[in-house]
Amino acid sequence: MTPPYPLIYHRLLDAYGPQHWWPAESRFEMMMGAILVQNTNWLNVEKALHTFRPKMTPEVIDQMTAEELAPLIKSSGFYNLKAKRIKAFIDWFQTYHFSIDLLKKQKKNRLRSELIEVYGIGRETADSILLYALEKPVFVVDAYTRRIFERMGYDMPKAYDLFQQEVEQSFTDDVSTYNEFHALLVEHAKRHCRAKPLCSGCPLSDICQQRIS
Ligand code: SF4
Repeated sequence: MTPPYPLIYHRLLDAYGPQHWWPAESRFEMMMGAILVQNTNWLNVEKALHTFRPKMTPEVIDQMTAEELAPLIKSSGFYNLKAKRIKAFIDWFQTYHFSIDLLKKQKKNRLRSELIEVYGIGRETADSILLYALEKPVFVVDAYTRRIFERMGYDMPKAYDLFQQEVEQSFTDDVSTYNEFHALLVEHAKRHCRAKPLCSGCPLSDICQQRIS
């Protein structure tokens, strides 16, 4: 059975309100944040952004080595690895002359295919960049999303792309809805559907099987 995605979306929106994602001062910072947040929490990303921000332009990063970049993003964890990933991303971005406007003019599927080929950019990171920096209509699947729907009683596709396609079939290609839905699911995972869930008061409790293992 397919989850009632629009119902879930509206329940979460009523409960938590608009989330105003992504928290960033610019689209480029958003793209950097999408890489820095891999395997860590947003608090550590914010600390890293504070140190990184004065040098955070694609042109400056392009002139740095990964070894020079790594100390600036130390607070995000796995900083040597993430420095290499950011450098690889910058190499790709350079093929578009470091122009976000030029990126936005490209087709979603082309950008997605290219991003996934960049070292260290997986589907979730690629889709976050597409949605939040480039305003392409795409649903971001993450571990929180999977946890919530599986606990609710749905056997979700294991493959990322199939999971994504299933959700997208229930919506028109609308950037603001996908923007809000992902942010709301993250908020729900923090407030109620935590690793140890707080089901009391959960806005989805009457439609959730609470399959908690
Ligand atoms: S009722 Fe519990 S398990 Fe179900 S969505 Fe809410 S917090 Fe998660």
